[in-house]
Amino acid sequence: MIPNSPIRPERIAADIEALSAITEPGRPWTRRAFTPMFLEGRQWLTRAMQEAGAVTQIDPAGNLVGTIPGRNPGLGTIMLGSHSDTVPDGGRFDGVAGVVAALEVARALRDQNIVLDHTLEVVDFLAEEVSIFGVSCIGSRGMSGTRPAEWLTRESGGRTLEQALVEVGGNLIHPAQRDDIKAFLELHIEQGPVLQNEALDVGVVTAIAGITRIEVVVEGRADHAGTTPMRSRQDALTTAAWIALGVEELAKALAAGPEHFAATVGEFEMWPNAGNVVPARVRMLIDARAELRADMERFTDELRNGIAAIAEKTGVTVEEPRIVSDNPPTPSDAGLLDILDAACERTGTRHRRVASGAGHDTAWMARITRAAMIFVPCNDGRSHTPDELATTDDIAMGAAVLLDAVQALDKKLQEES
Ligand SMILES: [Zn+2]
Repeated sequence: MIPNSPIRPERIAADIEALSAITEPGRPWTRRAFTPMFLEGRQWLTRAMQEAGAVTQIDPAGNLVGTIPGRNPGLGTIMLGSHSDTVPDGGRFDGVAGVVAALEVARALRDQNIVLDHTLEVVDFLAEEVSIFGVSCIGSRGMSGTRPAEWLTRESGGRTLEQALVEVGGNLIHPAQRDDIKAFLELHIEQGPVLQNEALDVGVVTAIAGITRIEVVVEGRADHAGTTPMRSRQDALTTAAWIALGVEELAKALAAGPEHFAATVGEFEMWPNAGNVVPARVRMLIDARAELRADMERFTDELRNGIAAIAEKTGVTVEEPRIVSDNPPTPSDAGLLDILDAACERTGTRHRRVASGAGHDTAWMARITRAAMIFVPCNDGRSHTPDELATTDDIAMGAAVLLDAVQALDKKLQEES
């Protein structure tokens, strides 16, 4: 840890310990949004924000926000934060590390009697993970004005999302979308192995990859597995296998470039899936992630061509691939990246630029403000498992970068305006 830093690792460790204790009994670590455990976690966080000198509220979108007014509040808000909800049987650090780091930045400023000119806000976004309502980033989408209206009628456990939103303290009376946020920064664990492998402290995130999901359906023909000669079959599975291998080959070629690319056949179903029947039908769902939109376009084009060639070779019908969902990549704000790089240099943090293959609240915040994020290492890149582990020192290094960046930003934004 950096000598003489106002960031105090022992406070970070204590916060993470306290939050991790708030979990479904016998099921570490589970604190899903909208559950009683989640609300208990938020009560704890509310007190912690207040102790850090913040005035707390639940905003209309259901986010917990701690506000520390600036000396010149007319300048607008600099916001820091992440999410406190977890996946079922998740980790102690995904999301929580970013909320706690933001809290520690607020405490470190207060300890030094520093009041920013901008208002500082610490946020715990509602339901970043796929929630019991089957959708994610509910709070950041609300705050950025991108939450689909039809989500509100989704049901889970006998109530609608609208009712659940009101239960956590949000509402539909006041507008949820913000227009006063001048910059947003999020610290998050990397959820991948790059930083640890390269013995780095911080990744400055260049972009959050776009995610495109493509459904492929192969229509073969069911026949007797014992009597149908090999040459006269239309086996949907073997054709699907060629396609799956083609997806891997294409993705490896694109991933060899400098920008992040990954593609996975994540869902695979076969009919009739019986021991003595030639497979008649296969459905696959491909999840493709690209830092560059051009890479995604190349992938979908070459996938179409490759599938046509495989269908011709095997003589089995493959339906036209169907784009099920398509979200473009979110590049980070270039000015914020420079500020974060400089903050890493000033704090002596070993850093590099990386892309995020996972989605984050930052992607939605980028719709309404300058936004960027930093990653801190996590052990073996593991996440969404109870084995997820980030060290207190690594989170503290990240918090020190945020602390430096927020102060630089407080000045730079005024020079710009
Ligand atoms: Zn997360």
